Amino acid sequence: MANEVKTIGVLTSGGDAPGMNAAIRAVVRAGIHKGMRVMGIRRGYNGLINGDMVEMGLRDVSDIIQRGGTMLYTARCKKFREEAGVQKAVDVCKEYGIDGIVVIGGDGSFRGARDLSLKGIPCVGIPGTIDTDIACSEYTVGYDTAMNTAMYMVDKIRDTSQSHDRCSVVEVMGRHAGHIALNTGIACGASAVLVPEIPYDLENELIPKIDQTRKMGKQHFIIVMAEGVSFAARDAGIVEKPEDYSKYVAETIEKATGIESRATVLGHVQRGGSPTVRDRVVASQMGYEAVQLLSKGIGNRVVAMQQSEIVNFDIYEALAMKKTIDEKLYEIAGTISI
Ligand code: ADP
Repeated sequence: MANEVKTIGVLTSGGDAPGMNAAIRAVVRAGIHKGMRVMGIRRGYNGLINGDMVEMGLRDVSDIIQRGGTMLYTARCKKFREEAGVQKAVDVCKEYGIDGIVVIGGDGSFRGARDLSLKGIPCVGIPGTIDTDIACSEYTVGYDTAMNTAMYMVDKIRDTSQSHDRCSVVEVMGRHAGHIALNTGIACGASAVLVPEIPYDLENELIPKIDQTRKMGKQHFIIVMAEGVSFAARDAGIVEKPEDYSKYVAETIEKATGIESRATVLGHVQRGGSPTVRDRVVASQMGYEAVQLLSKGIGNRVVAMQQSEIVNFDIYEALAMKKTIDEKLYEIAGTISI
């Protein structure tokens, strides 16, 4: 049977994540292996609307597996949220003969992929987001690298916190999810972990705990909090801007306990850097799987990991799922942080 899917596209969209390049490389090489042409679409859905794309050969993806960022650039594209923008993208796909697209990004990007699939351009999503907030998948490309970066940074802060007998409040990424904070907190021996999924009480729980562990001989303290906690504090009117909340927590602790306290917001450092083994391997597996689906003309799917196996879900089903925080891990963090 002749191969009906002759040309596929690949794009990265939304927030970048280390390992996106490894996924692009896998898509390009697996696609060419299947006898397809692969078009690299630049700057997410913008490139699709503007026809900003280039055919990619085997050697165009050389030397990128070890690089953070994305060689195709990424962007947020307002126009794509409107019917006219999606229609323009469909027209451009027809013009370039694109029969299917691999979309590497988060759930916003998958909504776009769903819209495009509905209009007859099969799309397959690969979860690429450091926050790992994609419910259908137990892993997302970029997560391991981001956590390791956060861990190395908190380790450095811990050194100076120890030297000065201080309390350090460190905000890590995770706008809607506390997975990075929880895992980094455990890995760095944090005294407390604050995540958006679980309520906490600064005055009546966290501060007394610091006091209590100080009496038991603890001299310095690390508090790891997710970015989402800061957004919630802004929404609750506690601070004006989310970036002020870690400072607010540090000042509150200092006032109540007398322990000199400092705040650090790690920020975008967590998005960059050379991807870890796990991110490179999962990106390669997912890129390969996405191509297998598209080569059969199957679209409107998200590639995912479940019990360490690569599987795939309908995008509608995937977007309706809710991811929960690992409460057992949270309990462990609380128990051994004394
Ligand atoms: P992420 O994919 O990392 O979650 P965003 O939520 O910013 O990032 O989404 C990336 C892009 O996906 C948006 O700029 C837009 O082009 C597209 N997108 C997001 N939400 C939708 C939506 N509801 N419908 C269509 N396209 C969307």
